[in-house]
Amino acid sequence: MKTDIKSLNKQELKKFITEAGFPGFRADQLYDWMHKKLVLSLDEMSNVPKDLKTFIQNEAELVTLQHVTHLESKDGSTAKFLFRLPDGHVIESVRMVYKHGISVCISSQVGCRMGCRFCASTLGGLVRSLAPSEMLEQIYRIQQMTGERVSNIVVMGTGEPLDNFDNLIKFIELITDENGLNISQRNITVSTCGIVPNIKRLADLDLSITLAISLHASNDEERKKIMPVANKYSIAEIMEATDYYFKVTGRRLTFEYSLIAGENDDLKSAEGLTRLLAGKGAHINLIPVNPIKERDYKQSGEGHIVRFKNILEKSGINVTIRREMGADIDAACGQLRKDYMDGNVTIKEEESKG
Ligand code: SAH
Repeated sequence: MKTDIKSLNKQELKKFITEAGFPGFRADQLYDWMHKKLVLSLDEMSNVPKDLKTFIQNEAELVTLQHVTHLESKDGSTAKFLFRLPDGHVIESVRMVYKHGISVCISSQVGCRMGCRFCASTLGGLVRSLAPSEMLEQIYRIQQMTGERVSNIVVMGTGEPLDNFDNLIKFIELITDENGLNISQRNITVSTCGIVPNIKRLADLDLSITLAISLHASNDEERKKIMPVANKYSIAEIMEATDYYFKVTGRRLTFEYSLIAGENDDLKSAEGLTRLLAGKGAHINLIPVNPIKERDYKQSGEGHIVRFKNILEKSGINVTIRREMGADIDAACGQLRKDYMDGNVTIKEEESKG
């Protein structure tokens, strides 16, 4: 197999080329072209000699994503991008404009095997995990195409990041590298459905990223109805793991709770949630569920959402209601990709170079 040089850190890249007889400083140049100048091809690397380019062409691969299409919301706050991977699979990424900067939500896998009932990303199962280079490229392409610096990253697109643990960690190492985009760990959020052993592994790395837990229910019985992963790990185990995460890293956690009418939005659930989270200093995001056509889930009424929020707030829990941004462009996780795969998105394919 050819070496994916965009997934290597600088040291590994140096080792790769020096073992083939090239001087070490060439790795600095290559790294700069790939991770700072964000070029698409070897041709653009003007200070890299021909023999090194030939070596890379033969022994390595320069992973780039091809832009397929993008949709922009009417208010301009959100854009969804579809990218084609080198092997032809298609993934989606989302760019969001906030007051504090540009945030990009990336996919960590092609499809997902977690099976959450309300989620479009998991309908076709898992195809494969993404390489670090393929996670990086989602951000690189968006920054290049828009010309605006990406400041925040959320790993909350298609896939379960803690089901692709090693590549996720490598991705974080490379995106925070001062020789690359140099994004601060504090500006990165990773969202998980709660793979308990890997929450602990992540804690032990003592990073400054924010960990978000997709909870969506306040007891195991209810959680099992919408999230198959609940059959494997109990809420009690998740709480123990998140307490450990906070103890080791000092980073407060975020909990996500998608409100589904008649499923998990009754006031008893709010009280259950309060018992789980009160006093932890955690932040909770309430997300009115984005209905997908394959399932009959509906959003809770506005008054209901506010009552739910009030119960949590009375116990001193930080609550944000996360309004869907760009619902007019298939905002639900994995929905645009799904529509594209089903042939419901007609686009003019754009060929990008490289
Ligand atoms: N696998 C990870 C990250 C991807 S999902 C995780 O489970 O956290 C990102 C978030 O969107 C999760 O909280 C997920 O439960 C939520 N989500 C997925 N589909 C949704 C939908 N249709 N409506 C509301 N939230 C949804």
